[in-house]
Formats: sequence, C-alpha cells, structure tokens
Amino acid sequence: MRDVLLPGSIEELWSYMDDRPGASMFAGGTDLLVKMYNGMVDYEALICLERIEELKEVREHEGSIRIGACATHSQLIGEPLVRKWLPALWKAVREIGSPPVRNMGTIGGNICTASPAADTLPPLYAMKAEVELLSRQGARRAPIAEFIRGPGATGLQKAEILSAVWVTKPARFNLHHFEKVGLRSALACSVVSLAALVRLTPGGVVEEASLAWGSVAPTVFTCQEAERALAGRPMCGASLSEAADIVRRFVSPISDVRADGDYRRLVAGNLLLRLLDKKDEGRGGENDGS
Ligand SMILES: Cc1cc2nc3c(=O)[nH]c(=O)nc-3n(C[C@H](O)[C@H](O)[C@H](O)COP(=O)(O)OP(=O)(O)OC[C@H]3O[C@@H](n4cnc5c(N)ncnc54)[C@H](O)[C@@H]3O)c2cc1C
Repeated sequence: MRDVLLPGSIEELWSYMDDRPGASMFAGGTDLLVKMYNGMVDYEALICLERIEELKEVREHEGSIRIGACATHSQLIGEPLVRKWLPALWKAVREIGSPPVRNMGTIGGNICTASPAADTLPPLYAMKAEVELLSRQGARRAPIAEFIRGPGATGLQKAEILSAVWVTKPARFNLHHFEKVGLRSALACSVVSLAALVRLTPGGVVEEASLAWGSVAPTVFTCQEAERALAGRPMCGASLSEAADIVRRFVSPISDVRADGDYRRLVAGNLLLRLLDKKDEGRGGENDGS
C-alpha cells in the first residue's frame, strides 16, 4: 500500500512535496494510475491535487481565458467561457474517452502526459496557448510548444506544478474546428486529429489559418507551409488539396498498434480537405460562441 496525500491548498502541497521527494503528483489519475496498475511506473507515495480548489478555476482575464490545470474535461464541457471563446478546445474535450474518464481526467493531466495523441493539445497549439508553472518561488509562463519536449517529456521542473493554461481569446478567427479519427468513436485515443482556426472573409477567402495535428509526429505538428498555402486564397477544393499535399510531405507519423504510418499520413491531409464542409460556419462573421 502506498500513501496517498491529499493537500487542500497550494501551501499544503508544497509541504507534502518537501516531505516526500519521491512522491508523484496526480490529478484525475486516468493516465498515471493506469500506468502504475500496468507496472509501467512506480512511486513510494502519491500526492493527489483534486482537493485544491484554486487549481480548478476557469476565468477571464484581460482578453485571455485562464483554465486551472485541475479543471476536468466534464467541467470544461459545461464551462460557458470555453464554449463561447475556445470552441475548438470545447469540441476536443467532448471527444475524450467516456463520461467517467471525462469526469476524472483533467486538462493539466492531458498536457503533462505529453502524448502526441492527447486531444487537448492540437487546439492549444493552434491557439498558441501558454502554460503557467508554479513553484514556491512563484509562477512562470511558457508557450505550450516549448513546454512539450517529446512523447511523455515536458519542461516541468522538480519543484513545480502545472497550475493553469492561458489562451488569448482567438476572436479574430471565425471557423474553429476539431476533428479526431479514432478506431472507435468513444473511448479511443486519436489515430490522427486536426485543430484548425481559420479567419474567412464573407466571400470565403482565407485571411489567416492556424493548424495543428495530433498523432502524426512525436509532438503536435504545426505546418506554416500549409498555412501559407491557404492564406489569401478562397477556401476551395484546389487550395485545400494543395495544403493537404504539403502536410503529407512534412509529417513523420509512426506505425503502431493503432495505425500504420502511411495511413496516418493520408488522413492528416484528408482531415484538412474536410474543412470544405465547414466553410459556411466561418462565413457568418465573428465568433459568437454559438
Ligand atoms: C479509458 C481511457 C480513455 C482515454 N481516452 C482518451 C482520449 O480519448 N483522449 C485523450 O486525450 N486522452 C484519453 N485518455 C487519457 C487520459 O484520460 C487523459 O490524458 C486525461 O486528461 C489525463 O488527466 P488526469 O488528470 O487523469 O491525469 P493524471 O493521470 O492524474 O496525470 C497524468 C500525468 O500528468 C501529471 N500531472 C497531472 N496534473 C499535473 C499538474 N497539475 N502539474 C504537474 N503534473 C501533473 C501526473 O504526474 C502524471 O504524470 C484516456 C484514458 C483512459 C483510461
């Protein structure tokens, strides 16, 4: 039996971390406890973050949304600020696992697991989110793309926790899209996913696009070449096909139990082609969150 420590505040968390340097923290446990159960990792003690209310708060601050790291996926689905301002993230969390997994799993756990298949990461990359890292010394912020170093690897320091993720409201985009291809519709990690934010003119011309794919490279894959290929052109079959070919050239997917690398490469481009069906959503004007 391992000790499970349950701090009720950040101050209490620091003292537990000092007392038990060999302990691992967890939030919902849907990644960590599964790995422990399967013998992939082991720790002499566990520190559970779920009772620290200040880590669950979602709020607006000067044009940004700050999402506490321990906000669960279910909480985010019901959070009006996320639904209104961050629809691509809202769509992504709705597709995670099953209701029990969404009730327990947190956005912070999804980020810190740093899986290329983690569903919150493509929208967070497309929105150029920043992580907030807290230690006794104070808070620092880092772009998410710098924080995630590789599969399972982050820039989290020994005495730090992920306290929040900050996203500037992406109000200039009027098309907010997330799509995931999995082996089954529920409970499945993605085989390939795409988050796309596009600014379309009323005439359907792409002014700006921000694109991020999951599961096609060791970390979330962004592609400025494809974004540039779309900018200034009507969003049509020809421009999307050209951008899709570029993406297929640049991605470096692996083959694993869930899919073959060549299949992932094909689907990475195909997901972009699907934006054609979404075009009318973007032509309505500014994002009104509906
Ligand atoms: C059946 C099943 C289905 C799943 N389906 C999906 C899916 O469809 N899509 C998907 O993306 N994921 C899926 N997952 C994975 C998992 O549910 C998510 O990644 C979830 O968001 C993890 O959050 P958690 O709070 O449970 O993480 P935990 O297991 O608590 O923690 C994961 C890691 O993050 C660290 N950590 C957690 N919080 C913090 C923090 N605040 N600061 C520093 N480190 C922290 C922990 O130390 C641990 O290393 C699934 C898991 C299961 C079991």
